[in-house]
Amino acid sequence: MTLADLQRFAALHPGLATLTVGVLGSCVGSFLNVCIHRMPKGESVITPGSHCACGQPIPFWLNLPLIGWLSLGGKARCCGAKISVRYPLVELITALLFVAAWTMLAGPKVAVAWVFLPLLVLLAGCDLDDMTVPDAPNFTLVGTGIIIAMLVPSLFGETAHAEPAVNRVYALRDSLIGIAVGTALVWWIRTVGSIIAGQEAMGEADIILCAGVGAYCGWQGALFCLFGGSIIGVITALPSLVLSKIKGEAYQGVVPFVPSMAIAGALWFFRGPELLMAWRNWGVS
Ligand SMILES: [Zn+2]
Repeated sequence: MTLADLQRFAALHPGLATLTVGVLGSCVGSFLNVCIHRMPKGESVITPGSHCACGQPIPFWLNLPLIGWLSLGGKARCCGAKISVRYPLVELITALLFVAAWTMLAGPKVAVAWVFLPLLVLLAGCDLDDMTVPDAPNFTLVGTGIIIAMLVPSLFGETAHAEPAVNRVYALRDSLIGIAVGTALVWWIRTVGSIIAGQEAMGEADIILCAGVGAYCGWQGALFCLFGGSIIGVITALPSLVLSKIKGEAYQGVVPFVPSMAIAGALWFFRGPELLMAWRNWGVS
């Protein structure tokens, strides 16, 4: 079976193909759950196999993405402990992202999305779950971004030159500029913000994440990741901010920068040129 056979099959049975992509995405999401749980603790994501918090191993049929959690009603079969809703949520979000990439994007960008987006889900999940973002997936984002830029120069629109190798070099340059801009931007904001606020404004993880989005999306993507992400972060933090104001309490929460920047990075990956166009039109009118 060749790639052309697969494409022909997908064209003949679009519903079945989309369903298969969704199932694939949910399986990736299931693995991301393991990573989100173990990586911040510095544990291996391969061994031991899936086990409950009480130590009992989990058989594979209870470990099926989404179905496993639903059939158990959110409670472990061995000890009755509540299983966090984070598990089916991560599986569902990853499945939907896989399907969105499959239906909205074209060509090799679909495969790139299936690497880029799960890494963003992983980073956001670690931050929400543990408030720590492990370096390994973050640097993986930057590293894979550089490699993919050279493999898929069209990702950066570098297709003009007749010699493919030249396009690869240009795409590599775009990716490296994206990393440099992402790093510099967040580093400056962090430094200035820390001086003004008198405490650390953004973490190192934010710098690497913004660099990673730059590696995949170029400098415009890094810019949107930071500023779009900040807006998304403030909007999500606003309800609890207003609530603490009404109650007359000091605001205890934090702006979830990593998940917000991850959302912004994904938005740019899907609809970057359109977002740029909308921004320009908005400025003109
Ligand atoms: Zn148990």
